[in-house]
Amino acid sequence: MIRVESMVFSPFQENTYLLISESNEVIIVDPGMYGSPELNRMLDYIRANELEPKQVLLTHAHLDHIFGLKGLLENYDMPFFIHEKDLPVYETAEAVAANYGVELSLPDKKYDLISENEKVAFGGQQLEIRFVPGHSPGSICFYSKDDHWVIGGDVLFQNSIGRTDLPGGDTDTLLRSVQTQIFTLPDNTIVYSGHGPSTTVGLEKMNNPFFK
Ligand SMILES: [Zn+2]
Repeated sequence: MIRVESMVFSPFQENTYLLISESNEVIIVDPGMYGSPELNRMLDYIRANELEPKQVLLTHAHLDHIFGLKGLLENYDMPFFIHEKDLPVYETAEAVAANYGVELSLPDKKYDLISENEKVAFGGQQLEIRFVPGHSPGSICFYSKDDHWVIGGDVLFQNSIGRTDLPGGDTDTLLRSVQTQIFTLPDNTIVYSGHGPSTTVGLEKMNNPFFK
């Protein structure tokens, strides 16, 4: 079983997830730590729990999901993965941050690409990658069939959906992504969203006003 822990970071209240295997290896999803106190909170957690960071996965490259990427990689040498279609978002993130008046530096280390045709081998499982564009052009989800959860990024929230007014966003595309890639999962699948509380596929199919 993979344990899922979350930490909330930055003024954007972004959920960073830690996927922790039974042997204490950890994948960090969307490291959103803003500034050194938040980075230290993450590093302290890793050390205190004797976790061994293996890789970083990005659901997408909006700045609030990558604030802590550089700092994390300066402390742990590990690969980080992004979908090719989100590279335009990644590569413009520093400029976008400057426009918002927030600080962001991308890491010196180069990304690795990951696609929906691959799986992530971790904790004795094969995590599925689902391509869910619409909030950003290269958004992806990470699905654990064995443990019944999906790390959804900013695609689907409790009673809401991700915004689609940023570059590369599109509402119809987002709605289709949720319907074909998330609502097709079992109803009891927990959805860990990029912001706000977790929910389930069944609850969102029943209650989410964007799918009425
Ligand atoms: Zn986003």
